[in-house]
Amino acid sequence: MVLPVVKYGHPALRQKGARIPAVTEEVRQLVSDMFETMRHAHGVGLAAQQVGRALQLAVIDVRGVTDRPSELWIDGHPASVDAFMPLVLINPVLTPSASRAHGPEGCLSFPEIYGEVDRPAEVEVTAWNERGEEYRFKAGGLLARAVQHEADHLNGILFIDRMDSATRADVRPDVDALQAETKAALARKK
Ligand code: ZN
Repeated sequence: MVLPVVKYGHPALRQKGARIPAVTEEVRQLVSDMFETMRHAHGVGLAAQQVGRALQLAVIDVRGVTDRPSELWIDGHPASVDAFMPLVLINPVLTPSASRAHGPEGCLSFPEIYGEVDRPAEVEVTAWNERGEEYRFKAGGLLARAVQHEADHLNGILFIDRMDSATRADVRPDVDALQAETKAALARKK
């Protein structure tokens, strides 16, 4: 089922996700719905907060992106990104590299708003998959960026928080307009 994606200005986006103690049938259904929602919206990642659920759960699939390369290492060896997709990140723990990379970012909760974000270039990740099994990998390129963007969502952090002040100033009119529109829609529902 395609779920509604909440937009900036919705309080769910600022909620820290609760740790998922066990992968139940309800969690598996949410994972399935989140994949359907992400693909329907042509996104590369989606966090539970974006469908109004404050949980440590995100889904990622970078296979559709051909102009921005991703890198993957498993047990220290380079591995196929495509074969590793799609990804379910439950209760992820990230260890970022010291090196940093600059790149454009967007977010399904900020339609039509894009900006450059500086982040660690690589990240090591430990998470559970949809079967509740722990797995580990190291990501670079777009995949590293996507994992960090989604993990931020799980802690109520948004990509606008990571922009430098000049970039934030550039997107501010659009961000403020989106926030006002979301709040007005929420007020009408009450
Ligand atoms: Zn996002």
